[in-house]
Amino acid sequence: MISKTQEPFRIAVVGGGIGGLFCTLAIHHHCTEAGVPVHIDVYEQASQYKEIGAGVGLGINAARLIHKLGIGERLNSFAGYRTGVWITFRRYDNSGEIVTIPVNDNETIRQAPCARSDLLDMLRSVVEERKAATLHTSKKCMKVDDLGQTVRLHFADSSVAEANLVIGCDGIHSALRNQFVVDKPIFSGQIAYRGVIPIASLPSWPFESYSVLWSAKHRHFLVFPIARNEQLNIVAFVTKPENEVADVKESWTSVCDRKDVYADFAGFDKPVQEIIDLMPEQPSKWRLNDREPLNRWHYFDGKVMLLGDASHAMLPHLGAGAGQSMEDGWVLGRALSEHLSGSTKRHFASLETTAQLYQDVRLPRAQKTQATSRAAGNTYEMQAPDMLDLGFEECIPLIAKRTAERMKWVWEEDLDAIYERARDGEAQKISEATTKQSVDAGAIPTGQGEAIAAK
Ligand SMILES: Cc1cc2nc3c(=O)[nH]c(=O)nc-3n(C[C@H](O)[C@H](O)[C@H](O)COP(=O)(O)OP(=O)(O)OC[C@H]3O[C@@H](n4cnc5c(N)ncnc54)[C@H](O)[C@@H]3O)c2cc1C
Repeated sequence: MISKTQEPFRIAVVGGGIGGLFCTLAIHHHCTEAGVPVHIDVYEQASQYKEIGAGVGLGINAARLIHKLGIGERLNSFAGYRTGVWITFRRYDNSGEIVTIPVNDNETIRQAPCARSDLLDMLRSVVEERKAATLHTSKKCMKVDDLGQTVRLHFADSSVAEANLVIGCDGIHSALRNQFVVDKPIFSGQIAYRGVIPIASLPSWPFESYSVLWSAKHRHFLVFPIARNEQLNIVAFVTKPENEVADVKESWTSVCDRKDVYADFAGFDKPVQEIIDLMPEQPSKWRLNDREPLNRWHYFDGKVMLLGDASHAMLPHLGAGAGQSMEDGWVLGRALSEHLSGSTKRHFASLETTAQLYQDVRLPRAQKTQATSRAAGNTYEMQAPDMLDLGFEECIPLIAKRTAERMKWVWEEDLDAIYERARDGEAQKISEATTKQSVDAGAIPTGQGEAIAAK
């Protein structure tokens, strides 16, 4: 237990993206409530805390956590609204409706599709306003060493730092994960063209909502509104063989000619063609990767933990990756505050048991989301194993059936209740129950990242 007169517990958050900044705020929130002093340093490799372009669709599970931090109204002030529809799935050729997934966005706590830059700016501003952490830039963490009581971080500029706990929030290419695990990002077989256009510039819009996904064999075109519905976020997915995408990166610097988008979406209905007309002449072209499920998220006796894409990078087909990283941060914040305030419950006996509780609560749900994201992408493009030999018309009812209920468990699970049940002794039961839930066709391949350092 840390008393108020003691040195604060030092935490190093590696990576100042959505996961890293949310986790910083969650730890600060829970530790402040518990009255335990912590000092958090965030080490970001880039020269500024910044996200470029593009939107991110936060589900209500993520929005709920942002409200619990007391900044929900700020989120709503820049988020778009989905006018009652998460997504309407439509045929690519004539926009006929396949299925509509409803949402309630009339309440204060609601779905929040927003610009990534607005979300990151808000999180950074709140970290600064609350003095939740010291934010560092141009600090690329290369590796960590176990010093016994603490961990030493080594940065690319040859500087070092020390902390009692290091949280690796350094994304899909995580240097920290790579230190402990032998695996690599996996190419999904898909690339995505991405862009944002002003909604006011659309020449026509025949639908009630701006959340639409047009589905075809091997391609799907997704749009949703962000920025108070002033902007339309576009992600246009195409399946490509590996040899055709060797030059495509997971990066905003990877662009293409708009002609490629027209070519890949030839035959799509008029609203899609009108959207492509408005995309920049050199849209961003993104390689979609995820990772294999990882069954260990903590190392060095719990002094290093992984969070967000570093522990469970997933494909974007449920719009859930950022939300899952926030769930990680919320649970880790709760567990850490209980450990540091000297809870006598057995899970808080050491940092390692606390890390294990965090993993027990989060891993089954994150991995289910990871697997279901793959399966969802395969369904939208009619590539699930049982759809491969079916024609377009035969696949339509399968899309409707598989998609109608798929998001419920992502949005509606009571995270605090799961945490409290695990803390109070039901972790095993929860893990089993969650992993047993089926993940429809196209589940994640077998094979776990091989841990090279068990501790
Ligand atoms: C096309 C696409 C669409 C998506 N759409 C959605 C969506 O609609 N909804 C949703 O919830 N999710 C979506 N996602 C997923 C979401 O973007 C990620 O799950 C989320 O950003 C993960 O956050 P993170 O903080 O773990 O990682 P990141 O956002 O990748 O942040 C990692 C941070 O760490 C920094 N960093 C990396 N290495 C180091 C290092 N060695 N040292 C220091 N700093 C380092 C990086 O610069 C970065 O700032 C989408 C993803 C893609 C690719």
